[in-house]
Amino acid sequence: MTPYGNRPMVTPIVNAVNYEYSSFEILQKITDGEIDGYTYHRDDNPTVRAVERQVASMEGSEDCVICTSGMAACTMVYLTYLNAGDNLIIFHDVYGAHYKVSLILERLGIDITWLDAWQSEDIKKYIKPNTKMIFCETPSNPLCKIVDIEALHKVAKKVGALLVIDNTFATPYHQKPLSLGADLVVHSATKGLGGHNDLMAGAIAGTKANYDKLWFTRQAIGTTLDAYSASLLQRGLKTFEIRAEKMAENAYEAAKFLSRHRKVKKVYYPGLKQDRGHAVASKQMKNGFGGVLAFDVGEKQDDAKKFINELNVIYHAVSLGATESLVCIPYITTMLYMPPERRESFGVKLNTVRLSMGIEKTDILIEDLKQALDKV
Ligand code: PLP
Repeated sequence: MTPYGNRPMVTPIVNAVNYEYSSFEILQKITDGEIDGYTYHRDDNPTVRAVERQVASMEGSEDCVICTSGMAACTMVYLTYLNAGDNLIIFHDVYGAHYKVSLILERLGIDITWLDAWQSEDIKKYIKPNTKMIFCETPSNPLCKIVDIEALHKVAKKVGALLVIDNTFATPYHQKPLSLGADLVVHSATKGLGGHNDLMAGAIAGTKANYDKLWFTRQAIGTTLDAYSASLLQRGLKTFEIRAEKMAENAYEAAKFLSRHRKVKKVYYPGLKQDRGHAVASKQMKNGFGGVLAFDVGEKQDDAKKFINELNVIYHAVSLGATESLVCIPYITTMLYMPPERRESFGVKLNTVRLSMGIEKTDILIEDLKQALDKV
């Protein structure tokens, strides 16, 4: 706000690490949480706070904690809610780096049950008396498997376990897990929320009580996002809905095209009627099924590599949810951290390709896929 009361059209980037106290009384009010003030960047920052409120409103939550990356968000959730001796149920079908985090959690005495996402249909069988958290992605990374959030919520509630949904693939444009019974929603805001391949951030949305707990962890370990990235994230959010809509349209058209192509063995996309997750996805997602899909090219990894090498428009790069279409082979990129036998145990093949559709014109993307597949 200027001295004349006219507001800037964007939240100013406040790069200050510390703030001058106007009086001891004000300092006391800030530290008691009585007024919204700032003392030190690791505690809070006005640019970050503005984008937290925006993401909270998108997810329909009371508040939201923004942090330095999607994995920082997931790790903060684990560290905040799990204790030695607790059981965590997590699905293999989550972003590969969880495997590394799980090794740290096990070292800290947390018992972990890994399941295939389709085993969520039978989740009761795997609950233990000490199960304190169920963590999953839906659609999952990279095979876009679908987990029934409401069904999981019923089971989690009965045993008092926290249900955490990574909503990165779906985005709040397509799915609002909190309205379906999830306790927390996490995001790699590096992906669809930011959307331009130029920032790294994470988000955790939930109740005010959860915000307080997660804020404590962030303040303690120092995973507060910098103001510049927060500003970029806010800029990304301005176009979020139209990007999400176009990406989902592109993904649906690509999935239909790929499922008819003879060089493609299988397409994984919940928007296709024949997809195993279609019925549940139709119930819990709206406005389409997201911008990411996966498919098996030819018979072996060299076929998938040949296909990627022949693409002209779609970029060979990791990450997803960006304005540009991105393609990668998860087996040798996002899942590299996992032992090979584990990578294959839940369906990811050596020739599985993940495709994140951007906002380019649909026919240009389909033509690029076609000409590259024809050369396999
Ligand atoms: N969750 C999902 C679904 C992801 O795809 C990723 C990264 O690809 C992450 C979390 C981790 O996010 P970040 O790379 O921002 O740490």
